[in-house]
Amino acid sequence: MSESLITVSYLAAAALFILALSGLAANETARRGNMFGIVGMTIAVLVTIAAFVTDNLAVMVVIMAVGGVIGFVLSRRVQMTQMPELVAILHSLVGLAAVLVGFANFLDPSIQYTGVEKTIHEIEIYIGIAIGALTFTGSVVAYGKLSGMLGGAPMLLPARHWLNLALFVGTIVIGAKFVGETSHDQAMIWLLIMTAIALLFGIHMVAAIGGADMPVVISMLNSYSGWAAAATGFMLSNDLLIVTGALVGSSGAILSYIMCRAMNRQFLSVIAGGFGTSSASSGGPAAEGEVQTIDIPAFAELLNDAKEVMIVPGYGMATAQAQHAVSDISKNLISKGVNVRFGIHPVAGRMPGHMNVLLAEAKVPYDIVFEMDEINDDFPAVDVSIVVGANDTVNPLAQEDADSPIAGMPVLEVWKGETTVVLKRGMAAGYAGVDNPLFLKENTRMCFGDARETLEALAKAI
Ligand code: NDP
Repeated sequence: MSESLITVSYLAAAALFILALSGLAANETARRGNMFGIVGMTIAVLVTIAAFVTDNLAVMVVIMAVGGVIGFVLSRRVQMTQMPELVAILHSLVGLAAVLVGFANFLDPSIQYTGVEKTIHEIEIYIGIAIGALTFTGSVVAYGKLSGMLGGAPMLLPARHWLNLALFVGTIVIGAKFVGETSHDQAMIWLLIMTAIALLFGIHMVAAIGGADMPVVISMLNSYSGWAAAATGFMLSNDLLIVTGALVGSSGAILSYIMCRAMNRQFLSVIAGGFGTSSASSGGPAAEGEVQTIDIPAFAELLNDAKEVMIVPGYGMATAQAQHAVSDISKNLISKGVNVRFGIHPVAGRMPGHMNVLLAEAKVPYDIVFEMDEINDDFPAVDVSIVVGANDTVNPLAQEDADSPIAGMPVLEVWKGETTVVLKRGMAAGYAGVDNPLFLKENTRMCFGDARETLEALAKAI
């Protein structure tokens, strides 16, 4: 394949990736954005194979077919509720790939650089393996936390900041030794030691992060996986991989920034680990008030009298798969002339945009779905707020208790409305492990049970 055809194809693929990202920025254009991404990736893979794979084509096709079938079967089987952990485990694979490519590059006898070129190539390998290794283990721990295999509570080692600093300094010192090393075998040993440190760092960094701060970690690992891919692009001298990795890396970094802003956190404090988690199990000051329940007929009556209804979904809507029932109720109320709106917290659910994806799947019109910033001031005028499996994102303790793990995080102020009905199965705490005084407020009614079953029964009653 000619040089110019490769360049033109790579430029086209890069342009399609940029269009994909801009399409994904809004609900209405997300499908188109996805399509651009798929076409761009197809071009990228086909051109790369045609242009650069000279030997072992059959082996490569077989491996791609096996990987493709595994990916296809897994993506068919995965439940919507398992998407966050799927994303985390996919990030881990990008990290692992960067590590393996780095070692393969280092061991490849056909790559022989000298002088400055050798130094640059070694730095590329070192950085690629370092980012890849910490992305790998960090993502595996994030997978464990999101899937519930590991607890959401942070692992707070006594001198954790010193440990992080020591690992960081160790990585730099070993890097200097690796780059200056003349013996290939000794350089390999330095590389292996650094890989072990980076693997440990990935585990420690994510394990130290409390449940409430996990959204930042997810987007940060997304960003790291992009930088790992970009570093791999440098190692392989592949321009498209550099561009694609940089796009993922920078968009992930922007998402991390947005998540930090949504949670009122300093990025560095979050990644340093354990920010605001000192009282994770305390649950804050004892809340006053008593639980008042509501049954379906009374709930239906409340809605029949309402003019302004706000629906606030949270992770429980995803676990209950209640999005279609939510959509049906909202259509029913709208047909009766009620002004129904949805208030979405940026970190509701278990991945960025989780609630938006579910509501879009259930065909809730985009123009009645609002971000927290757009809607939070409107609660005093709301007659009934329906909280569907949300907990941390509607917890007033974030404003009231400075020692709480969620302290300072902006929350949806549902309690300012006339009546709030909370749909959940019991009095369990949310992901951050904090009790929620909203459930005891005078104008709150608890409607216990699976959110989907409750809403289906409610739909019949209104
Ligand atoms: P929470 O995770 O705080 O709470 C969800 C609630 O849903 C639980 O209290 C649970 O109560 C209830 N629930 C579970 N299953 C059902 C069901 N079948 N029917 C009804 N209710 C159910 O949810 P939020 O969305 O408010 O908050 C998200 C949390 O997750 C935040 O702390 C956020 O930081 C964190 N997080 C977010 C990520 C993101 O990217 N968005 C990533 C990782 C973490 P009960 O068991 O009593 O029913």
